[in-house]
Amino acid sequence: MKLKNLIIIFLIFNVIPYYTEIKSNDNYLNIIYEINNNINKNNIINTVSKLCENNSRITGTLNCNYSAFYIRNALEKNNISNVFFQYFPFNNTKAINVIGKLKNQTKLNSNILLMAHYDSISVDNIAPGANDNAASVACIIEIARLLQIILKGIIPQRNLIVLLTSGEEESLCGSNSWIINNPQTISTLLCVINFDMIGYGEYHTVISNEDSNWLARYIIECGTTMNLHISKSYAIYPATARSDHANFMYMNIPTAWIFEQDDYYVWMHTAQDTIDKINFSLVSNCAKLFTFILYKLMIEKRGTNYSIIGLIFLNLLILLPIRFYFIRKININKK
Ligand SMILES: [Zn+2]
Repeated sequence: MKLKNLIIIFLIFNVIPYYTEIKSNDNYLNIIYEINNNINKNNIINTVSKLCENNSRITGTLNCNYSAFYIRNALEKNNISNVFFQYFPFNNTKAINVIGKLKNQTKLNSNILLMAHYDSISVDNIAPGANDNAASVACIIEIARLLQIILKGIIPQRNLIVLLTSGEEESLCGSNSWIINNPQTISTLLCVINFDMIGYGEYHTVISNEDSNWLARYIIECGTTMNLHISKSYAIYPATARSDHANFMYMNIPTAWIFEQDDYYVWMHTAQDTIDKINFSLVSNCAKLFTFILYKLMIEKRGTNYSIIGLIFLNLLILLPIRFYFIRKININKK
């Protein structure tokens, strides 16, 4: 075989993967365009306003349980099916987690968990909890609606489970109860994304640890693609263990906490955590970005993306034996 033929084979093996990669990025640009065209900030505003209207959602109270019903209905209207309540004991009463799955489902036993708490707490008599954490709940409901639009007819590689907890402000007992009740699902989780206090400031921070470093990088890369800045920070115990993600990090599940800027919000756990403090453009951006991220995480066959290392292996495995075979043949012919 002549050198020219070897070069042609070399090009085929190297160009096809790159071409496939470029084509898939083209598809992603269409997806981003569709997300940007369909985001509805008013949906987010309406949900936050509805959740804050009773002034408090303290775990185990009637107001908190009313919110669970409101969230269940909103999820059912927005692409989440089989929405149900998980009751757990709390202070001689029962508190509620709301759980559902996105309608686009695969039979493969692989899942992603997207979560936020909906309960609130306050040092004052009332706890509107607009930033902590009605904005995150509203964002998740909007993400579910957007995913319905961009996933139309697609059967994904993994399912999206949505979990809205109460009891977060009470030693994270809602998420803990979900974990105890779902040992089988836990073992199928690719990753967990927790939103807590995403409505204040100008950008978001992703808080990760060793297990979720890849996830934080993935989130930041997707942010760059969409022109949205995300900063990165590390989980430091106990300072960053104050939300539901901590229960999953303790179990070494790749988990990221999406948070506002690097500083704590001054109205946290006060009667002043009201809707006027929310930067709804920031929450809309979060909905756009995480719709894109979840879309990619749901449809991508992980491990099939071609990397430089992958290409080197491809060459070593396929091309080198071919080259040796033909060089040997040429030498034999020369003799
Ligand atoms: Zn919170």
